[in-house]
Parts: sequence; C-alpha cells; structure tokens
Amino acid sequence: MGGKRQTVPAEFAVQGEVMIRTARVKMRRTRSRDYMKKWRANPKHRELERERRDRDYVLKKQRRARRLLLRPYTRVDGRPQCGFCGQGRPVEIVERLRISETADDEFVKVLIPYCGHC
Ligand SMILES: [Zn+2]
Repeated sequence: MGGKRQTVPAEFAVQGEVMIRTARVKMRRTRSRDYMKKWRANPKHRELERERRDRDYVLKKQRRARRLLLRPYTRVDGRPQCGFCGQGRPVEIVERLRISETADDEFVKVLIPYCGHC
C-alpha cells in the first residue's frame, strides 16, 4: 500500500515556505485594508481619527522643538547630527557667522557640527 514517499528537494521546500509566507502577508494586508475601509466609512470614526492625528502631530512637534532647544543638533535617540542637512553623523565642527540679534555686533560666530558631505 502506498508508494515510496518522495522527498522534496530542499530548495523547493524553501521556495514553498517563502510563497506561503508571502501569500499570508498579502492576505493579512488585504484584510486590514478592507477592515480600515469599513471603519473609516463611519463619519464618527473619521472624526476620531482626525482629532487623534491633529493632537499627536502637535505633541510630536512640541517634543521635537523642546529636544532641539535643550540639545541642538541631536537626533531623537540623542546621537549627534549634522547641523546643515540633519542626516549625517558630524565629523567636524565648522564656524559660521550668524546675524546678531543684538545691535552690539553685526555678526556672531556660531559653531555647527558638519557631516562633511552636504
Ligand atoms: Zn550634512
């Protein structure tokens, strides 16, 4: 009874797993999208979402402004950041002139961390 079981070559087995995983992710995304579509169809829910978004955006902006005031030229995690592009890790500190806010001097020297690329 029953024939000899065929073993699946390892590379095909891996391909199968990947395909199953991809299909599952796709299904989950479709389901989530449909759910959120239905959820947003309710005007009350849309209003809730808008309120939350507005509130969170303001909070985020305030947090960011406060952080930059206390520790300028830092990323969210506290690592130093280029003072010009805000992307790279600074490798040197450069001197720039800024227009003075008091009338004593026309310009003041400011030191700004610079990544060397931008
Ligand atoms: Zn830079």
